[in-house]
Amino acid sequence: MLKYDSYYFQCPHCQTWLEGRNLKAEMVNQSILYSDGKVLNDNLITTPQKMIMCPSCGHIFWVEKPEEPFITFEKPDAEVYSWNTWRFFGISFSDNKGKMALVNHYKTFLKKSHYDPKKEIYLRRFLWWAYNDLHRNHQHVRLKYLLNGFMSFGVWHCNRKMILEGEKLFLKNHKDFTENLKRLLALLEKHPDEQIDLEVPEIYRELRQFDKAKELLDQMGSRTHFTNEILRHSKWKDARVFMVTG
Ligand SMILES: [Zn+2]
Repeated sequence: MLKYDSYYFQCPHCQTWLEGRNLKAEMVNQSILYSDGKVLNDNLITTPQKMIMCPSCGHIFWVEKPEEPFITFEKPDAEVYSWNTWRFFGISFSDNKGKMALVNHYKTFLKKSHYDPKKEIYLRRFLWWAYNDLHRNHQHVRLKYLLNGFMSFGVWHCNRKMILEGEKLFLKNHKDFTENLKRLLALLEKHPDEQIDLEVPEIYRELRQFDKAKELLDQMGSRTHFTNEILRHSKWKDARVFMVTG
């Protein structure tokens, strides 16, 4: 079970109170790292959400650092919108419809206005992860996964159907996926301070530029499990997101 500390902040437009959560890192049982850099703690994404759409008035605002005096740890004596109402814009991810809704949210935000490079990187990275969510756990479709006894036949079958459908949606949107990644790559190469871990070679791999991914990884001095895994998948000419550790 994840444990959080709650904090509270106000929409700058309508002053409605929203509840935020800080993860208590020491309470995490299982962390999963994916090749695109997304981390799940006990199955939940805990990367802070910087762009918020007020659940009361729809105003969009940014929270770069949830720190005092902008936030308070004391529960205000007023109605508070819970974390779930604004977290990922209140979307439920139990099916592919929800996953596509998140993709479309980010696409709309990017179309609607112009952002500074830092904010555009943030939105494009989250759009990239949202596309990858459509087929993120593709290894689960294998019969091996059922036979390992991780899940019952009913759960495995249902999950498999969702991932295969997700893969179809991913391929249908592949042109948009590629355009977003190319734009993200250009921004990250221009702003190296904003790069996270191995995301640049990983982007080349997901763009099917396997030789470029290998070249960048070969240039890195030290080898880690993460580097080796991206190299391995590049050699296989496999461009799909995969689980690195978990
Ligand atoms: Zn508001």
